[in-house]
Amino acid sequence: MSRTITLPAMPTRADALGYFRFDRLSEGRMVLTNDAGEWQVLADSDFRRFVAGEIKADDPLFGALQEKGFIREDLDAEAIATRVRRKKRFLGQGPHLHVVITTLRCNQSCKYCHASRTDMDRVDTDMSIETAKGVVDLAMQSTSPYLNFEYTGGEPTVNMPALKFVVEYSREKNRYEGKSLDHSVVTNMTYMTEEIAEYLIANNIWVCTSLDGTQAVHDWNRSWGGPGSKAGAYSSVLKWIKYFNRRYVENGLDPELYHVDALMTTTRKSFADWKALVDLYIELGIRNIHIRALNPFGFATKTWKMIGYTADEFLAFYEQVLDYIIELNLSGVQIMEGTAATLLKKILTPDDPNFVDIRSPIGSGTGQLAYSYDGTIYPSDEGRMVAGMGDDFFAIGEVGKSSYADIANHPTVRALALSSITDGLPGCSTCWNAPYCGVRPLHNYMNFGDLFAQRPLTPKCREHMTLSRLLIRRLDEDSDGRIEAMFRRWVIDRPRPPSE
Ligand code: SF4
Repeated sequence: MSRTITLPAMPTRADALGYFRFDRLSEGRMVLTNDAGEWQVLADSDFRRFVAGEIKADDPLFGALQEKGFIREDLDAEAIATRVRRKKRFLGQGPHLHVVITTLRCNQSCKYCHASRTDMDRVDTDMSIETAKGVVDLAMQSTSPYLNFEYTGGEPTVNMPALKFVVEYSREKNRYEGKSLDHSVVTNMTYMTEEIAEYLIANNIWVCTSLDGTQAVHDWNRSWGGPGSKAGAYSSVLKWIKYFNRRYVENGLDPELYHVDALMTTTRKSFADWKALVDLYIELGIRNIHIRALNPFGFATKTWKMIGYTADEFLAFYEQVLDYIIELNLSGVQIMEGTAATLLKKILTPDDPNFVDIRSPIGSGTGQLAYSYDGTIYPSDEGRMVAGMGDDFFAIGEVGKSSYADIANHPTVRALALSSITDGLPGCSTCWNAPYCGVRPLHNYMNFGDLFAQRPLTPKCREHMTLSRLLIRRLDEDSDGRIEAMFRRWVIDRPRPPSE
């Protein structure tokens, strides 16, 4: 992908301009951004007048450009600095996401499994209560005032004793810590029972599942019953989504806040069924569809020829889905796309959502930690996935032996931060998308063998750049403000009461 744009020679007045980055947005349109996350689209002719310092106080564009910090005249550097500080508020917080791998055992065998699952008889890959206690003791030392214990695996509900122990022990410890605690479980729903479901509901544990699309797609991606099995998980997932959503309502809980969330992983098989996928989510009352690309971890690396695709194929699929979701919203249906909502929060609000996978620096080690079943600590679940492929490069400690300071100051955590701070990376530091982007060093490591890689050649760069451009284009083409109003609804935080 070429990122070079050729501009005709034009007079510039650097002393009249604030600090900004720019690029072509679309035919005849340029986009400017700055560190405070401000952006402005200009027609080519206005862009030329802008860089020549010809946009003066009586120009209709002056007010917006000056207020956003793109024009030097009366530039309020303190106000801009305050906005940048607010965007980067997460930097001082410490890890809030604590991923607990309660087991590697799983009753499914998904074609793209990133988690290096083991068979159901491998009880040696269950987390012990002693390790679970060490996880809580370490996680509660995080400087973050908010913690989310996220249970994953394998299939995390296969080891309910460890899950329950973390829930109950963390709540007990929190009587003295006073943090805000959440718990969430990422389950395939095929090991679910009423007993487990009622425990999760009664304990206010968020439930997130995988739903890849129609029955044909979901069951092809996510076979259930071991390698070679013809059984599918689709009917079980639907049954339990409906069960949870019904029980939330029966318990008097607001369905806007209490409902099952779902993640969708894209394989080649997804492409033809994109419309049916969105229709299915709507039919099930799921308001947030999170379209995810395949990651270069686990089984996906072995099955890539069967399930994989190019970045361009994924992005064309994504654009179709996004535009259909926009069309539905404009006709009164409420549904949003998860990655778009994360980027829009950065684009349209003064805040950063602190989503650990799309921020600068990446959240690995500084925003999240992952605890494998055996107590090995990683800066993120992806580090554990790399280890599952036989490479323990990202291990940063051991529960019960490493102190919180050992983990927080670990050279690998520093290296991950250094390799993902967009302000310091060649190519990123001058990229218009830097305020909204997040570099993924572990993806770079898997795809190219080093943490830094050549960002413009990486799939994640292409993905983040294309998605941001797509969203700002839709805003630029929005003649009556309806798209912006819809996008602003997507970024409203509707926090549930903490799990405790
Ligand atoms: S990784 Fe992000 S910030 Fe860096 S060049 Fe790509 S889009 Fe720009």
